[in-house]
Amino acid sequence: MADCPNCNSKLPFLKVGFLSKINNKVRCKNCNIILKGDESLASTTGMLGAALSIIILNIWREEFFSNPMVFVTILFIVATIFFLIATFQYKNIDLKVVEDQDQVLEYEQFSKMSQAPDLPENPTFVDKLKQKHFHKTDDQLLRIINNPKMVDEAHRAAKELLDERSEKT
Ligand SMILES: [Zn+2]
Repeated sequence: MADCPNCNSKLPFLKVGFLSKINNKVRCKNCNIILKGDESLASTTGMLGAALSIIILNIWREEFFSNPMVFVTILFIVATIFFLIATFQYKNIDLKVVEDQDQVLEYEQFSKMSQAPDLPENPTFVDKLKQKHFHKTDDQLLRIINNPKMVDEAHRAAKELLDERSEKT
């Protein structure tokens, strides 16, 4: 069961059930400690979920136009499969206290950094593009700026993101 190995309190289902290979850490709200999920289980369930969705989506593509009810049914099946996989993971995952708790700070800063800022109230097209490209690397942004085929707004969004990054460092 997904209890905190440090204080034995219950951990949130949605977070633990959907832990993945990349996003494999979760914080215990009760004792404030960072826990790490067993990567092999998390990546297996993740791949299983992805594979099943791809198979189901392929069926859906062929059937959708002939029968819209298929869409609802398949959505339901996909949701059920994800719920079952998440439940399985929640019950079986092995959680360990992250040994180097100094990493905790690093991890939290990283997750804060990697979160795209909220859109302003009346977002312009540039604002939307900036949010969309928020996770791109500097190189990828430069490629957008240097790509004459892309619209002006894309160039502006990429440039503003790069400028904001250089201000931070
Ligand atoms: Zn705890």
